Amino acid sequence: MNNDVEIIQINISGEDKPGMTSSLTAILARYDAFILDIGQANIHSSLTLGILIRTTSDKSGFIMKELLFKASELGVMIRFTPVGEEQYNDWVKRQGKNRYIVTLLGRKVTAQHIADVTQAVYEQGLNIDSIVRLTGRVPLLEDERAHKSCIELSVRGNLDDRDLLQRRFMELSGTGLDVSLQKDDIYRRSRRLICFDMDSTLIETEVIDELAERAGVGEQVRAITERAMRGEIDFCESFTERVALLKGLDVSVMDDIARNLPITEGLERMMTILKRVGYKTAILSGGFTYFGNHLKQQFGFDYVYANELEIENGKLTGRYVGEIVDGRRKAELLRLLCQFENINIAQSVAVGDGANDLPMLNLAGLGIAFHAKPKVKATAEQCISTIGIDGILYFLGLKDSSVEERCK
Ligand SMILES: [Mg+2]
Repeated sequence: MNNDVEIIQINISGEDKPGMTSSLTAILARYDAFILDIGQANIHSSLTLGILIRTTSDKSGFIMKELLFKASELGVMIRFTPVGEEQYNDWVKRQGKNRYIVTLLGRKVTAQHIADVTQAVYEQGLNIDSIVRLTGRVPLLEDERAHKSCIELSVRGNLDDRDLLQRRFMELSGTGLDVSLQKDDIYRRSRRLICFDMDSTLIETEVIDELAERAGVGEQVRAITERAMRGEIDFCESFTERVALLKGLDVSVMDDIARNLPITEGLERMMTILKRVGYKTAILSGGFTYFGNHLKQQFGFDYVYANELEIENGKLTGRYVGEIVDGRRKAELLRLLCQFENINIAQSVAVGDGANDLPMLNLAGLGIAFHAKPKVKATAEQCISTIGIDGILYFLGLKDSSVEERCK
């Protein structure tokens, strides 16, 4: 009798029933078949199970016969495909290639979005290994409730032109889709520190403009901000000029503004989940510590670094205390926090909207431009423009279903 090695691919599909995988693999166990690979996906109530086995020719006939009977008893389809050794070895070799995670995020991810992203992936010679939905199930008739949607692709291959692919993905942001491309390495699954800009990132306003408005110098401050944006004056210079205009403002105004800060959509949910899964969080802001501390208290951030306004006799003096937190300082603080917390810089994440966030976005392992100014968006590798700030949870690979369980 000829006992040659045989490799057989088994594909089972049909209605999911409890105990199905167990009863099928029990047959493989009885004949001592070795499982080279196994994968299962459930879509709606149907199951697709794939198993690749190595056995010998004296047993393969019995295995297939028994599996066939069992499948018919269970009412599912089964298909057997012989796999040549060479074919198998080719497949094993391909496993070594680079892996990437592509995340599609939006209020609604459409079939067209998926077609566009997968076309770009295909053109780069990458192969899709798996597709997973990270957001909860979509209710059929209540479209408004399905206010966000996220699908994650795991792809593999040698990426020739990462910049080109990234640009293709960025172009899609005009169609209501954010696409992120991350290398799927150990750091991707072990991020530990997240640094946030404050104004227009954690809150939907620029506090300095509100203070200026209340101090009756709104127009002047806005004019300086505009000059700074045009690059006519640098951040430190414009900061000093603007703070000087706030001289005489009563501290009670700061308190009033702090208590009424317009919180960015998704902030509370994001912080609850980040804390529960053990992330360290920091606010690194070119704004003011007074408001940063308020957010720290309300949402449980671990660190706040921002600018300190000098107060005398209950009024702002128009001066600040200590070193200005500008773009360069934000990046430096990110590096220092990593050192202090014993975290590899590749495990850090930075999130911000302004030009002064670019140094920290570029330095962090994952830099996310959040509802950012065009210049920032064009430079950053990842961006979120379509949904709230809890969208970053998906870039971290956190699935709604597992996160919601943790919250109970
Ligand atoms: Mg900002």
